Amino acid sequence: MNSVEGKVAIVTGAGSGIGEATAKLLARAGAAVVVTDVDKPKADDVARAIEAEGGESLAIHHDVTREDHWDEVIYHTQADFDRLDILVNNAGVSGAGMGTLEDQTLETWHAVMRVNLDAVFLGCQKAVIAMKEAGGGSIINISSVMGIVGGAGAAYNASKGGVRLLTKSVAVYCGNNGYNIRVNSIHPGYIWTPMVRSIVNVMPAEENMTEDGLRAMLTERHPIGRLGEAIDIARGVLFLASDDSSFMTGSELVIDGGYTAV
Ligand code: NAP
Repeated sequence: MNSVEGKVAIVTGAGSGIGEATAKLLARAGAAVVVTDVDKPKADDVARAIEAEGGESLAIHHDVTREDHWDEVIYHTQADFDRLDILVNNAGVSGAGMGTLEDQTLETWHAVMRVNLDAVFLGCQKAVIAMKEAGGGSIINISSVMGIVGGAGAAYNASKGGVRLLTKSVAVYCGNNGYNIRVNSIHPGYIWTPMVRSIVNVMPAEENMTEDGLRAMLTERHPIGRLGEAIDIARGVLFLASDDSSFMTGSELVIDGGYTAV
């Protein structure tokens, strides 16, 4: 079940959180994994951990907002592993601390869009071109519950909603062109990663919020009674990457502990 034996995957933002857990799980399930992150030392650590478990991995410095970096990542993936079967567009920023709707600047709006949405477009475009040569593949875009309902900053909501529809657009394009490339989005609820933990640092001082307090507040919004762990999302990625999800494309996999069911 959920095997990706012999497949080649790229995971962006894989030095931390959901990306790290995903890279390690895909490797355990048999894939060679290209671990990319804007923070190269973190990517190196993850690649070393994969190799220590007997897996195949390559770490690459990759700022997902840069088209030239994408070209290098695809080039090295094909040079080292001959093909590309799976892309996980995971890198993202929360936009926390960038102000409210009324005081956010256009500059910070664009900063969120560049990482969370423009880069997913670039990744999809480059991967489709590489995958169609190899006869097919699976692209998984990490959106959010905030791509379905409001409640985060405007830029984060808009970027993640954009990822949801971009995914469907690319899925339909690939289907219409007979490319055998499946494209799906994942919509996590709150996952206890460095991104979420760091929200406490940008909350107004008068709120006196602690990490424990933040965790308790967020937990209350999830009917299942806990926050997610990175592995909860990694398991969804593995399913969408594997042939077990072979009839799924253009769909949205919600993994949110009931957040959007309320
Ligand atoms: P994380 O722990 O902060 O990991 C994100 C990784 O992406 C970090 O290593 C970060 O590096 C890297 N990154 C940031 N900007 C980048 C860029 N321009 N190019 C390449 N890498 C970059 O966050 P996470 O919680 O695992 O989030 C992963 C994805 O899940 C994001 O798309 C996020 O929006 C989404 N998501 C998260 C949650 C949640 O509750 N955690 C919920 C829904 C969706 P630095 O640390 O050096 O910036």
